[in-house]
Amino acid sequence: MIVAIDGPCGAGKSSVAKVVARELGFSCLDTGAMYRAVAWLAKHNGVDLDDNEALGKVARECEIAFGHTNEDPTPNQVFVDGHDVTSDIRTAEIDKAVSPVSSAPAVREALVLQQQRIGNAGDYVVEGRDIGTVVFPNAEVKVFLTASPEERAHRRVRQNADRCVGSIDYEEVLADIIRRDRADTTRDTSPLKKADDAVEIDSTGDHIETVIAKICELANERRR
Ligand code: C5P
Repeated sequence: MIVAIDGPCGAGKSSVAKVVARELGFSCLDTGAMYRAVAWLAKHNGVDLDDNEALGKVARECEIAFGHTNEDPTPNQVFVDGHDVTSDIRTAEIDKAVSPVSSAPAVREALVLQQQRIGNAGDYVVEGRDIGTVVFPNAEVKVFLTASPEERAHRRVRQNADRCVGSIDYEEVLADIIRRDRADTTRDTSPLKKADDAVEIDSTGDHIETVIAKICELANERRR
């Protein structure tokens, strides 16, 4: 069974997906981390971020793996070609580099195939931008999670402060969120949009527990 959670950056998808997966006993896949890992590797290897073919080669040939520390059973580590990039993919530099990388059709083609292979191997909560529309159009549960840009920026600042990585300047984070929203919704290949059959949850002002409970309820209804 697939629970697809899509939505713009900072809507709380990652935090929500991890707890929902734990409650349901599912695995969890953060597809944004995969685009970030390819962006990191492309920059590391000096690949031109406007070169679709070269980026596609990076995405096809790299090995992305997830790991977890002992205390936490859900994935919280990311490796690409053996490099631990868990923190490096969350920097402001990668926040910028990931947009041209994720809009390259050759990258999307390669990563969508990998995501389908992973998700088809078991019960998964998969979060991203195009999960309910492109990667798993037949997902049993589809959620489109949103919140106002200002709320998302506040949350991202708190998250960056907790992780000690990325900007903690509210105005800078808000500007980046608005820029990435525009890039994600206007790109030609798989733009961010709500699937027709997705349930939209606006989490502005809501506690994360309320959102988690709603998604678990939807999943449990489908499981019965
Ligand atoms: O979710 P996160 O903010 O980490 O994603 C990083 C970037 O990866 C997004 O800004 C978006 O451009 C891209 N992305 C995507 N499709 C997905 C997941 C992420 O294009 N399924």
